[in-house]
Amino acid sequence: GSIPSSAEIDALLATAHERYAATTDGRVADYIPVLGAADPSKFGMSLVTADGRTHSLGDSAHTFSIQSISKAFVYALVCDALGHEVVHDRVGVNNTGLPFNSVVALELNGGSPLNPMVNAGAIATTALVHADPTLRWEAIHAGLSAFAGRELQLDEEVFASEMLTNHRNRAIAHLLTSYTRLDPEPLGVVETYTKQCSLSVTAADLAVMGATLADGGVNPVTGQRVVSEQAARDTLAVLASCGMYERSGEWLFEIGLPAKSGVSGGILAVAPGKGALAVFSPPLDEAGNSVRGQRVCAYLSRALALNLFASA
Ligand code: GLN
Repeated sequence: GSIPSSAEIDALLATAHERYAATTDGRVADYIPVLGAADPSKFGMSLVTADGRTHSLGDSAHTFSIQSISKAFVYALVCDALGHEVVHDRVGVNNTGLPFNSVVALELNGGSPLNPMVNAGAIATTALVHADPTLRWEAIHAGLSAFAGRELQLDEEVFASEMLTNHRNRAIAHLLTSYTRLDPEPLGVVETYTKQCSLSVTAADLAVMGATLADGGVNPVTGQRVVSEQAARDTLAVLASCGMYERSGEWLFEIGLPAKSGVSGGILAVAPGKGALAVFSPPLDEAGNSVRGQRVCAYLSRALALNLFASA
């Protein structure tokens, strides 16, 4: 079926917001010091249809750092530029079953990153954008801004805070280099990766970015083609298997949509051909996924009949 009318969507978003606003489960991430200062009561959501209609509620214009959700879009850009085979050769597409920042997952797989949605694979993916750090950042900044349909800004405070504490990501990059899986200088790649995670977005931005994947790579608000249809499809496939870290199987079982989460509290779920839903709420579960975000997505996936595996 197709997506319901605008009035129905607005009513369902309002119900979801009301239903889960009182949820107090989860904890705000604080391993990146500045994220620990996030207001746990912030709660916003936005839905953008593949034909460009936007619906927003609550703190949908509140900015936060995109964090791991950037991984999906950098992967799409790299798939677009280099193609399915070349990218797959360097970064796999299977779930690690381990936390997003696992070093063990990389070691157990002979130094080959298992997928682009965990840190090892994301760092390897960022390296594929360009060997030169300045051009690498410019391409990512321009590409993610095209997905959002506006020029995204770097959150300098988040970037500085994470650069002081990202020892594990530096270790992962050096490990990738030792396995000859990273061509550019490793610390430069970690810097670009940390910058991409520090881009400031709103739930409304994320919904437009996701709707661009839902719309086969064309931003439905600006009309601009950002990536190829194939790159959008490749990205959604990886989001289905790996986007919610080690909870990806449970997520697909309950919600039935490709999705990506980030430690600042964003979740983006994409219904191919239909649209995308983004939720922002900082308290996270053990895997690093927003608790309210998951509940809102579960509710709306059912209410809007978005589950990919449902035949009606
Ligand atoms: N920048 C964060 C990190 O590398 C992103 C992690 C996340 O959102 N899961 O740890």
